[in-house]
Amino acid sequence: MTRNLDFDVIVVGGGHAGAEAAWAAARLGATTAMVTFSRQAIGRPSCNPAVGGIGKGQLVREVDALGGLMGRVTDETGIQFRMLNRRKGPAVWAPRAQIDSQLYPARLRAYLESCPNLTIIEGSVEELLSEAFNRGSAIRGVVLADGRRLTAPAVVIACGTFLRGLMHTGDQKTVGGRVGEPAAEGLSAALAGLGLQLGRLKTGTPPRVARHSVDFSRLQEQWGDPEPAPFSFMTDRLAQPQVCCWLSATNPQIHELIRANLHRAPMYSGQIKSRGPRYCPSIEDKVVRFADKSSHQIFLEPEGLDSDRIYLNGISTSLPQDVQAQMVALVPGLERAQVVQWGYAVEYDFVLPEQIEPSLMTRNVRGLFLAGQVNGTSGYEEAAAQGIIAGINAARYCAGKPPVILGRDQAYIAVMIDDLVTRGVTEPYRMFTSRAEHRLVLRYDNADARLTPLGRQIGLVDDARWERFRAKQRDLAALMDLLKTLKYEGRSLADWLRRPDEDGSRFASAFPQIAELMARRDVWGGALVEIKYAGYIERQARAMEQFKELERLVIPEDINYRQIRHLRYEARERLEAVRPRTVGQASRVSGVQPSDISILLVELAARRRGDAKPPIEAQLSR
Ligand SMILES: Cc1cc2nc3c(=O)[nH]c(=O)nc-3n(C[C@H](O)[C@H](O)[C@H](O)COP(=O)(O)OP(=O)(O)OC[C@H]3O[C@@H](n4cnc5c(N)ncnc54)[C@H](O)[C@@H]3O)c2cc1C
Repeated sequence: MTRNLDFDVIVVGGGHAGAEAAWAAARLGATTAMVTFSRQAIGRPSCNPAVGGIGKGQLVREVDALGGLMGRVTDETGIQFRMLNRRKGPAVWAPRAQIDSQLYPARLRAYLESCPNLTIIEGSVEELLSEAFNRGSAIRGVVLADGRRLTAPAVVIACGTFLRGLMHTGDQKTVGGRVGEPAAEGLSAALAGLGLQLGRLKTGTPPRVARHSVDFSRLQEQWGDPEPAPFSFMTDRLAQPQVCCWLSATNPQIHELIRANLHRAPMYSGQIKSRGPRYCPSIEDKVVRFADKSSHQIFLEPEGLDSDRIYLNGISTSLPQDVQAQMVALVPGLERAQVVQWGYAVEYDFVLPEQIEPSLMTRNVRGLFLAGQVNGTSGYEEAAAQGIIAGINAARYCAGKPPVILGRDQAYIAVMIDDLVTRGVTEPYRMFTSRAEHRLVLRYDNADARLTPLGRQIGLVDDARWERFRAKQRDLAALMDLLKTLKYEGRSLADWLRRPDEDGSRFASAFPQIAELMARRDVWGGALVEIKYAGYIERQARAMEQFKELERLVIPEDINYRQIRHLRYEARERLEAVRPRTVGQASRVSGVQPSDISILLVELAARRRGDAKPPIEAQLSR
């Protein structure tokens, strides 16, 4: 029984966003409630049993560096680890891990259940309580389907794909946010009732087959890294045995089958009207869009150590079951495979993210924060990264503290949030390294240097993490000094390491004073990148300084773009809609041109000189 129904922060949803939000808020001292349909489903991977990947792996490292959960839980439950992009520069190296899809939610739940200040409540949030505030409103709590009312000055909505979720397999439609689970029916109307504009998106998942029915002799094995690297800066040793995945592929026969049945695919029959992720297309999309390709890879990924289910990565589909059955039987190795879950697509409502601030609080409803798929993103990592920021800022809002807003030069998390709130989305947003203009600086290896001091300052980083971080930074500095001073054949070791073909392995035996530090993968890896890419990193640091100048120019909150003379109509409308915080952010708003920014700068300079009108009304905090 839940007795105390008054909290500081209520988090709606126990997915990847909700878990990080609740953990962060509670650890920052806010009495927090996590309301979710089912305790058992907390942290359940809706789709692929994997965490990380290109751009996404960096997000997980950043969540970890701030004191979040995703990296640790992945290390504790990961069953195959690989560093992607190893052949490219370290700026784009990205860790990825297969996770055990039973162990992962269980471990995540254990962390949350043992977290002080956090109460987990099973239930469905149907209504939002609010009251008039200033020119908008302020959140006051939530009402559950069974009539319970929970009150709090801050609410984080992290309800994923569940808002009016509708699943499709062929012409079969089932109400629900994910297979076997209900939809959130009332919450969309509650959000719309607060004046938030909603859109609709879709995503999809492939069929799963029974492991015992797969003919592995026909498949190519795919193992993880021989020396797997953990996600979390706190992990020394990975806990689980490492398993193999397998590789198969589609063929012209399958493509023919799909073409012949396209009219029965909800995306093509007109049954689904919303947009799905372009970069993560269904197999029917791939066959249409890449008509000249006769084959697409399929990765067979075990869903867990003791699981009999294999996830067929690469053939996400919402074709009817009879077509899926024929398609699977045509895949080499799956001729006799038994399908244990059919692929499906899900359509769901999301909130147009231009309506939120970079703190993830909605602009017009004070205290209402949004995180995860509900903001138009896709992916566990994107959700977790927003979750931790929403949790931090919800707790800080309750404590009367200013929000934490990261810069694009500080973190991938900030790149994503800035993209969302500035540009909005027209399809599910996922992270790519190419979205980050400062990616040489935003590397997976230095996420701790970029964010752990901030995590410590705001109170999320505990003593153990902080001590470990400081020790690593000391060791890294000591190693850099030694590499610059020790000489080999008349040149410093750092000079040698600048050569592209020099990996430094020969120095360990010649210089015992650095051997131990070289054996530390995190320390040695960090030093190598800093030395080998020093020139690029310096150039990027200079570019970042210029970038920061525009980011430092804060736009007064009371600015009325419609009154700025000479500003083009489109720029006025877009700036009024997005209401950027800084001139830097204004310059990234779609439809705003450099000439508009020049006019805005002139206006701001005039205001600073005092020849503009005074603010319309005083700034009101909560
Ligand atoms: C079919 C499918 C396919 C997908 N395919 C991909 C893919 O290929 N690639 C990819 O990156 N991502 C994919 N995803 C998306 C991925 O699952 C999400 O991005 C991620 O889980 C989002 O995390 P979240 O925390 O925002 O929401 P979720 O993980 O969806 O969690 C939402 C939580 O909110 C709870 N909840 C919802 N409404 C209420 C309510 N009213 N009251 C109480 N609790 C509520 C739910 O119980 C759940 O715990 C897919 C998702 C689905 C469903």
